[in-house]
Amino acid sequence: MLRRLVTVRKVTDIQPIKGADRIEIALVDGWQCIVKKDGFQKGQLGVFFEIDSFLPAEDPRWAFLEPNFINWNGHRGFRVKSQKMRGHISQGLLIPLGDFPELAGILKKLEDEHGREEAEKLSQKSSFEDVLKVQKWEAMHSKTSGWSEIPKEPIPSFIRKTDQERCQNLPDVFEEWKDEIFQESTKMDGSSMTAYFVRNDSDKLPELSEADAAKQPTAVLPNGRFGVCSRNVDIAEDNNNSDTGPQYWRVAKRNKLPEQLAGLNRNLAVQGELCGATVQSNFEGFPVGFHVFFVFAVWDIDAQKYLPPKETEAMAKQLGLRHVPVIGYFPLREIATSVPDLLQRAEGIGLNKRKREGIVLKHVGSDFSFKAISNSYLLKHGK
Ligand code: AMP
Ligand code: MN
Repeated sequence: MLRRLVTVRKVTDIQPIKGADRIEIALVDGWQCIVKKDGFQKGQLGVFFEIDSFLPAEDPRWAFLEPNFINWNGHRGFRVKSQKMRGHISQGLLIPLGDFPELAGILKKLEDEHGREEAEKLSQKSSFEDVLKVQKWEAMHSKTSGWSEIPKEPIPSFIRKTDQERCQNLPDVFEEWKDEIFQESTKMDGSSMTAYFVRNDSDKLPELSEADAAKQPTAVLPNGRFGVCSRNVDIAEDNNNSDTGPQYWRVAKRNKLPEQLAGLNRNLAVQGELCGATVQSNFEGFPVGFHVFFVFAVWDIDAQKYLPPKETEAMAKQLGLRHVPVIGYFPLREIATSVPDLLQRAEGIGLNKRKREGIVLKHVGSDFSFKAISNSYLLKHGK
């Protein structure tokens, strides 16, 4: 699912903060956002910038945030993150819709075409980061020295990119899916990694760039092509043996993924989280030199859908790989009945007896899934 960072949303409630006379709480969908007092009323529309939005310094509408501007990726601006004020969490930035004539124009057009009620619904489904030049903030990793020299292509379009919607953006999910069974798993904080195999007779093969069997003996196999991707890019086979940075190919080879996937002789992409001491901030606390690939999905390239969670678990086992920890399979109503309820549950213990990043809930009967990130993780890591 495409991440929608900037949306028009309705304030569902305003709540006072004890002892504070300048600020109050605005609720938008499953989010709680602290705003200036009397800036919003219940039912009012606002432009909501989700956490991880990076707002360009040039726009005067957030000039008041200037003292907190940062430099990121060659730009100056404001990074929206979780904060705690007067003991209450505040996530996102909410600005009255009236401050955005460019969006009001778009809304007016929608209203003329579809009527007011429908226009409001449609606007809440659209995303306006491009109009407002907002980017998704992402940590800049100093990957392995040599990482920048390795040739890369975009991840093949026939593989679904790994992503999870935040539960705060799905406030109706608990009512709509309450009797459905979900797999609850621990969310691991590493880097997304995908290993795929495409048979020589597949119609998807032409999308892959030419590879020279002499230079890339593991990518070009007798019965098809094997590849390794990070979340966004397909990484050319390399023989990086350094102990720093993510080690996608090294981990794939050590787990015998090329020969195993070629052995299955199916068009499949195995997706998981690459975790280790040199990946991200090593939140899970792994020892140096240790890298594990924790499977969380298997994408069926021919069917263009995910294998059901139980089959994914079985496939991981068959391949001798670890699967992300599965807490269990439950009807959603037994897991949680509201966003705050689920966020509370996300605060739990993960691997290595540490507090976990969060949980991921996957519907057993479809490709629908979403995540709940623990607020203490977000606050602790400045996200
Ligand atoms: P985020 O890390 O916030 O971008 O959330 C989405 C990412 O979580 C996915 O792209 C995966 O790389 C990662 N992830 C970690 N653990 C899991 C899990 N148990 N199930 C699904 N995705 C996971
Ligand atoms: Mn992550």
